[in-house]
Amino acid sequence: MNIACWLERSAQAEADRPALFLGKDCVATYGDFHAQAMKVAGWLQSQGIKPGDRVGLFMKNLPAYLIAQYGVWALGAVVVPINAKLHGREAAWILENAGASLCFTSAGLHDALSAVSDVACLDVTSADWDTVMVASSLESVAAAQPDDLAWLFYTSGTTGRPKGVMITHRMLQAMALSYFADVDEVTGADMALYAAPLSHGAGIYNLMHVLKGARHVLPATGGFDEAEIFDLARHHGRVHMFCAPTMVKRMTEAAKTSGEDGQGLRTIVYGGGPMYVSDIVEAVDHFGPIFVQIYGQGECPMCISALSRVDVTDRSHPDWQARLASVGRAQSVVEIAIGDDAGQPLLPGEVGEIMVRGDAVMPGYWQNPEATAKAIRDGWLMTGDMGTLDAAGYLTLKDRSKDMIISGGTNIYPREVEEALLLHPSVREVSVVGRPHPEWGEDVVAFIVTNGDLDTSILDAHCLDQIARFKRPKAYFAMPELPKNNYGKVLKTELRQKLEEM
Ligand code: AMP
Repeated sequence: MNIACWLERSAQAEADRPALFLGKDCVATYGDFHAQAMKVAGWLQSQGIKPGDRVGLFMKNLPAYLIAQYGVWALGAVVVPINAKLHGREAAWILENAGASLCFTSAGLHDALSAVSDVACLDVTSADWDTVMVASSLESVAAAQPDDLAWLFYTSGTTGRPKGVMITHRMLQAMALSYFADVDEVTGADMALYAAPLSHGAGIYNLMHVLKGARHVLPATGGFDEAEIFDLARHHGRVHMFCAPTMVKRMTEAAKTSGEDGQGLRTIVYGGGPMYVSDIVEAVDHFGPIFVQIYGQGECPMCISALSRVDVTDRSHPDWQARLASVGRAQSVVEIAIGDDAGQPLLPGEVGEIMVRGDAVMPGYWQNPEATAKAIRDGWLMTGDMGTLDAAGYLTLKDRSKDMIISGGTNIYPREVEEALLLHPSVREVSVVGRPHPEWGEDVVAFIVTNGDLDTSILDAHCLDQIARFKRPKAYFAMPELPKNNYGKVLKTELRQKLEEM
């Protein structure tokens, strides 16, 4: 079944029901939302796009984002959402790798991309969008098989090159149904608020709300602004949102300062990075029992485990603290196991690599059989995360086996930053690690062996020219040499220790 059928059904059931809001203003009913998506599909077809073709979405969070996404699906084509914070060159690389024929963009990003990419772009914030909105509609939603591709999700790889996770219609359906079973209920009276990028988990979470005919609100600022969220929640009521732990912390701090009680916030699902126990306790103390945690990764989007609202809130339970430090229990559509180096299952309490299998797990990476073979062993997805399961099935993350840095809920792969820095003539050797940061979880730090003096402002400007702003190092340290093992591999653990001792 094509996932776009869920929008069609909600439109059939109640065409006049308000669907899309920009801030406080309703901009489309379910009837409009579906009709506009079918126009996008018809227009794409007129441009020669066929089922299975890839279409990029390099846009800020806007109502047109969701319309374009469903339009692509209705045609049976595949969306390639690209984080709006990426550099135009990075977006261009992703479009090329995906073999995308076309890309929807928004103001600002359009010029950044067009300057470096040959892929045809359509700016949804320009008059060109009006041309799409008067196109002949596609007559009916195209058929799709469960294993047909719906979404190519680009995650960064340790090699520095992003990999395209193949997300199928079946995976999206499994994830959405698991949400109802394990995370939260959704009704037509609810509202999904998107304060995190739609290109990631927050965007995947639109599905349950479309199926149930709930309202969707895109903040007018286009991003995360605590005061705006509190205002929208109070205005609309029954708000659901996905937040990275950093966002939860910022909301708690802002609310405490302003005396805000979070009226209208019904559910905040947090995940995507580690949440400190003291931070979630403080958040619950302030906002009440509105929190549910999920653990997932692009390869099994939003759908490995969940820590329920009751688990987060029930302080009378003897294991409450330990459970709060966990990521909860397996979601209904997947199995979790802990494996040793050979992928053999370990016993409860033993630490090993977290493995997952089930209908929400990817079939593999786009045109990358080598990476797929490493990630999927004997039908299990090797997550690269280390953890332990207890006898009651609660999963606790111990460490990341990869050296990935998570800053403000966004992944940053050191190798990519290192490769960018090495392009500068003054950099001889470099190693990038994460440094614990009270607000962002981690920030990026570079240890550099230079070919002369270390001029951090020059390196900063160099990084801004190469990679997304949020990936550039926040601190540089010159070293006479990098600590290495016998094989010449840099010892990142020693660098992290050095940071602790500073
Ligand atoms: P991504 O593929 O961008 O969604 O990143 C996935 C990674 O984020 C996982 O492999 C984990 O390392 C981390 N992650 C996701 N959810 C959680 C969570 N609830 N707690 C701690 N880390 C998490």
